[in-house]
Amino acid sequence: MQEHLVICDNLIKIYKADELETVALQGLDLDVMRGEVIAIVGASGSGKSTLLNILGGLDLPSAGRVQVAGHDLTRLKDEERARYRGSIIGHVWQQSGRNLFTDLTVEENINLPQILAGVSAKQCKRRTQELLEIIGLPTYEKRKPAQLSGGQQQRVAIAVALANQPALLLADEPTGELDVATTQEMMAFFQSINRQFGVTIIIVTHDVMVAAQVDRTIAIRDGRTSTETIRRSQPGQALPQQTGYPQGAQLSFPLNGPHYQTSPMGGGGTSAAIGLPEETHQEAIYIDRVGLLQLPALAIEQVPLRGHVEVRISFNHVELWPAGSGDTSYQNLSGSGSSAVIGLPLSSHREAVLVDRAGRLQLPQEVLLQVPFHGRAYVRVARSHIQLWAEPSTDTDTDTDTDTDTDTDTDTDIPGWANQPGQQ
Ligand code: ADP
Ligand code: MG
Repeated sequence: MQEHLVICDNLIKIYKADELETVALQGLDLDVMRGEVIAIVGASGSGKSTLLNILGGLDLPSAGRVQVAGHDLTRLKDEERARYRGSIIGHVWQQSGRNLFTDLTVEENINLPQILAGVSAKQCKRRTQELLEIIGLPTYEKRKPAQLSGGQQQRVAIAVALANQPALLLADEPTGELDVATTQEMMAFFQSINRQFGVTIIIVTHDVMVAAQVDRTIAIRDGRTSTETIRRSQPGQALPQQTGYPQGAQLSFPLNGPHYQTSPMGGGGTSAAIGLPEETHQEAIYIDRVGLLQLPALAIEQVPLRGHVEVRISFNHVELWPAGSGDTSYQNLSGSGSSAVIGLPLSSHREAVLVDRAGRLQLPQEVLLQVPFHGRAYVRVARSHIQLWAEPSTDTDTDTDTDTDTDTDTDTDIPGWANQPGQQ
């Protein structure tokens, strides 16, 4: 059974410095299962390090909930927090200078977190030797960091991070200063320690090559999770040839059957938001300039999206399908063969947009460029999916309340929605 190691719920982080406020996280949701290796990508300043520092117990969110390995990080007392950092978390930074004490030898660097955790001298010596073997540097114990290459220094940094057998390894751009070959080696190393020890790993990166090697990549945009890209098959397996979802592909969240039942809504006749009659008024949801929108509660009730949707462009509208529904062939957003958001090939990866519990999601930039929403969309529930139209849809069979068609293909207009997403 899969178990959550990390749960972030609506995390907000506001930094205040000299009258200036920076909103680094704006309602970020993230779930990570025990044993996963995930990558976090996003432009500089999008909040990646802020998130990692919060998960690492170095910083507190301004609001929201964050739980790691059963610990509510907003409620830890100082000494509990120190213990949490020392025993649950391993942290690797981009700058190797921040990871290692330059005056200490390799051995002393790896001993240090164990000594701080009160490990006996004998046990510490054994563990350090074991870690030196794991990182492939068994005879380097007496060297100083300056006598190692960049890749070797990062290996030692990982050994330091693993010293107390943490449940969660956080790596903030660990390959940022490494060349291509060393980056590959480093990623293989992360995979191998994940397999050997079951440690959960979160790697922040700018590098698509790094993202290509993990099971799941979360893109952060403006301080919130915006999309998720899941690798189709396990590493080492041949990539599927077709662009449709291969039956039996291994996915990291469960498929919930190919079809969802939806029943056409009974015609209530009034709009949900301001109560005007449907015959004369049609309401749209707002889409702000960065593509943020909130789906009406009625739509989410009828099509359970379970946190993830696949976005397909279909002429003048967009379809939101539950991720992994796989019952129609996938339509690439652009036809270019690579995912819209982080640029990985769609032959090997599929991309989902994350939907939070309130139905908020962010449409990829590419969708905004291709469908002329002009800031608003008209929502319809169709069989197993939700449609967002740029213009009010004009199908005569569904626009009137006299429609008694019981065909499950019948679309249903959603007259309104309760809340608008925050406009900035
Ligand atoms: P990333 O790691 O994705 O580049 P960060 O999490 O470092 O982004 O930063 C997110 C935003 O928060 C940026 O606008 C950054 O300037 C701001 N920020 C980060 N740390 C601090 C801080 N200690 N004080 C003030 N602002 C900060
Ligand atoms: Mg950063």
